Amino acid sequence: MSKSVKRKIFDRIKKYDTIIISRHTRPDGDAVGSTMGLCEIIKATYPQKRVFLDNDDRSEYMSFLGGEGERPTDGDYKNALVIVLDTGTVKRIANNKYDKGKELIKIDHHIIETDYGDISWVEEERSSVCEMVADFYLTFKDKLILPVHAAECIYTGIVTDSGRFRFKGTSGETMRIAAELIDSGIDLETIYANLGAEDFINLKFRASLISKIKITENGVAYLHISNALRRRNGISQEQASASISLMEHIKGGLIWLAFIENDDKSVRVRLRSRFLGVQELATHYHGGGHECASGATVYSAEEEAALIEEADKLLGEYKKENPGLI
Ligand code: AMP
Repeated sequence: MSKSVKRKIFDRIKKYDTIIISRHTRPDGDAVGSTMGLCEIIKATYPQKRVFLDNDDRSEYMSFLGGEGERPTDGDYKNALVIVLDTGTVKRIANNKYDKGKELIKIDHHIIETDYGDISWVEEERSSVCEMVADFYLTFKDKLILPVHAAECIYTGIVTDSGRFRFKGTSGETMRIAAELIDSGIDLETIYANLGAEDFINLKFRASLISKIKITENGVAYLHISNALRRRNGISQEQASASISLMEHIKGGLIWLAFIENDDKSVRVRLRSRFLGVQELATHYHGGGHECASGATVYSAEEEAALIEEADKLLGEYKKENPGLI
C-alpha cells in the first residue's frame, strides 16, 4: 500500500516542472527538516525543475539549517504540484495558497482528523515525516540524489520529533533510516551542537520557570507563561514554548501542559504525556496531534481551567486502572 502511494508521488514529482512545498505553522524540526530535505532532493535530482518552499512563518530554533529561499508568485501556482508535509489539517498549513496548484499531495504522520489532497500518504505510527521522506528517498534511491545537507535536514527532523530516539514512534526502521543518513556523511557534531545550544538569558528564564510549575491532585504538571512575563525577560514565544520540556521528568506527572499566551489573547497549549494519550483531550480544545504530543488553543481562563481539570480527571482514572507507573 505505502509502496504504491510512494510510486504515485514519485511519478507526480517527475511529471511537474514547478513544485511548491509547504508545512505547518509554528514549524518544528520535523516540519522544517522534511520540507527543506525534500526540496533539496528534488532540486539535486531535477536541476531543470523550479522548486519552492512557501511558508508564512519561520523557526528561529531551526534557522541553523538555512533559509527557505525565494517564494513562488501566484502565477507559479497555476501549473504547480503542491506538496504539504507534516500537517494534519488544512487549518494548520503555513500558507493560504496551498489549494491554488494543479494537484495537492499530503505527506504526514499525525492522527487523521480530516484528510485532504489528491494523493495522501499518512503513516501515523512513524516517528516523523522526515523518516517518511528518508524512506521515500531510499525506495527510489537509484533515481534520486540526496545531497549531504538534505540528509542533515532530514536527520535533524527525525532527532527532534522522536525526542532523540526516545518516543513511542521510534522503531527499528527509524534507527535503520538514521543509520543510512549518518552513513551519507552528515555532520552529527554540528547538528547536536545547534540543537543543544541556548542563549544564557534563555537558560536563566527557564530556571526561573521551574518555581512556577504547578501540579494537580492526580499529578498533571502545568505552567502558564504570560506575555508580560515573557516580554519582561526578553524571551520570544518560540523560546517560551520550549518550557514544556521542563516538566517532562516529574515522577507521577504522566501528563504535562504548557500554556503560552499568544499576542491575540488566545493561549497556545502544548500537551505531552507518557503511557496514556492526550490527543483526544486536545481535540476538545480546538487541537489535535499525536497520541502523546498534541497542541491546542484556549480562549479564556475558564477554558484553561477546564482543560486542566479534564486532564486531571483523565490521569486520575488512568492511575486507578494502572497503578505503579512512574
Ligand atoms: P506542539 O506542542 O505545538 O509541538 O504540538 C504537538 C504536535 O501536535 C505537533 O505534531 C503538532 O503538529 C500537533 N498540533 C499542534 N497543534 C495542533 C492543532 N491545533 N491541531 C492539530 N495538531 C496540532
